[in-house]
Amino acid sequence: MSANVKSIAMMLCIGVIAITTACRQNQEQQIMNKQTDSSIFPKGEKLENGYFTGSAYLNPLLAKDKNNDFAMGSVTFEAGARTNWHVHPKGQVLIVTEGEGFYQEKGKSAKSIKKGDVVNIPEGVEHWHGATAKTRMVHIAITNYKGEENVTWLSPVTDAEFNEVNQ
Ligand code: MN
Repeated sequence: MSANVKSIAMMLCIGVIAITTACRQNQEQQIMNKQTDSSIFPKGEKLENGYFTGSAYLNPLLAKDKNNDFAMGSVTFEAGARTNWHVHPKGQVLIVTEGEGFYQEKGKSAKSIKKGDVVNIPEGVEHWHGATAKTRMVHIAITNYKGEENVTWLSPVTDAEFNEVNQ
């Protein structure tokens, strides 16, 4: 083979590799888009209020009004994210819409929760909810009000507490 033919062959080869890489990246992007599209609601704004550990997002769906004595929102917990320990003075209902996570009441073992599960949280019970260490979890939260309050935030779920339920 002449030097010219070799260099043309080399360029063709590089071209094929570039096209293959671009195709694979496009396929990966399509898979990622599909995963995002499977969510019922957009994930909303990142929660930066200090009452969550890790990356959690809130999409407010409904505010308390004259008929509905509750607030409703979709909360997305990326893997490892969770609420602080907290209490609802009039209880809360969670509807898991995506993924897997945990719900734990103080002094009890954590319960695994997954897409399709409904959790009825009694009033005055200290608890937390969130993703597992390895999977994201999305839930709708319906949180009842007692007067103007619907939550009392407590201390963070420590890494030790979180690691224990993930074993
Ligand atoms: Mn709660």
